[in-house]
Amino acid sequence: MTLPLPISCSQRVKDVLTNTSIDQLEISASMATKILAPVKTEQQILENSMLEDDPNANCSVVTQDQKVRPRWGPQHKGAQELANLYTTGKRTQECICVGICITLMAFNCGFLILHFRIRNMSAIITAALCGIVTADFGSGLVHWGADTWGSVDLPIIGKNFLRPFREHHIDPTSITRHDFIETNGDNFMVTIPFLARMLWDFLTLPEEEVQKKFIWNCYVFLLAIFVAMTNQIHKWSHTYFGLPGWVVWLQEHHIILPRRHHRIHHVAPHETYFCITTGWLNWPLEKLHFWTIMEYIIEYTTSCKPRADDFKWAQKRT
Ligand SMILES: [Zn+2]
Ligand SMILES: [Zn+2]
Repeated sequence: MTLPLPISCSQRVKDVLTNTSIDQLEISASMATKILAPVKTEQQILENSMLEDDPNANCSVVTQDQKVRPRWGPQHKGAQELANLYTTGKRTQECICVGICITLMAFNCGFLILHFRIRNMSAIITAALCGIVTADFGSGLVHWGADTWGSVDLPIIGKNFLRPFREHHIDPTSITRHDFIETNGDNFMVTIPFLARMLWDFLTLPEEEVQKKFIWNCYVFLLAIFVAMTNQIHKWSHTYFGLPGWVVWLQEHHIILPRRHHRIHHVAPHETYFCITTGWLNWPLEKLHFWTIMEYIIEYTTSCKPRADDFKWAQKRT
């Protein structure tokens, strides 16, 4: 049996409960505002990135200093120096990789069609989707690693693989002037071992074994396609004029990296939104502080400063 509380006491309990629920509502509202707040404000974007739909402008807030020492674009001295480090040897490696990768893709695609069974349809779609998400995460991880650590002075990888990342930050539209080979050579190269292994399996394994590995191979194939296409998709996200209608449709429906979405990465100091295939993982990774935590761990264990080399190149304005 419960005793009735005196009026003043029950009123106080009521007040406490009302105040608590108001407090909780306020906390939830402020948490929601914090979580849903834009990663970069329009002002930050305008002040700290290049206006790509007007490539002749360097910033919406153009000062005399920016006219003399451009922060971005083909006139940036650091960007010009980096562009000149693209060698014939590098070009040859890219041509060979593109050729091998396309051949392997064509053969594997043929074998996948040959061994396709309709009963596996739902598993194939799931595997393909997982492949695309993995490609997006992989693009973020490689992009973050190359943007944040290492230097162009490092032997072999510096000039050949880190150079384009540095160039891209200080001259984002340079990618739109690169042809298919220069844009895609390195990404095509990454997929070769996996596609070669798949083709070997198709050629040597009995039908029963091929069927057992079929779903896995669908996952790897879609992963390889999206990894190979990542920098092409990235290039489209910087191309503000003359894109085919179907590419714009894919961007507008966020099936591939949209233009406005990728602009968030191009706000100095380029510390977020590294995923450049579909960009689906950018928002959740940012909200989990994934990149910040990784950078903290690496800086703590190695004493290396994140983006030190990127900052050095950004300073070479004159
Ligand atoms: Zn970047
Ligand atoms: Zn970009």
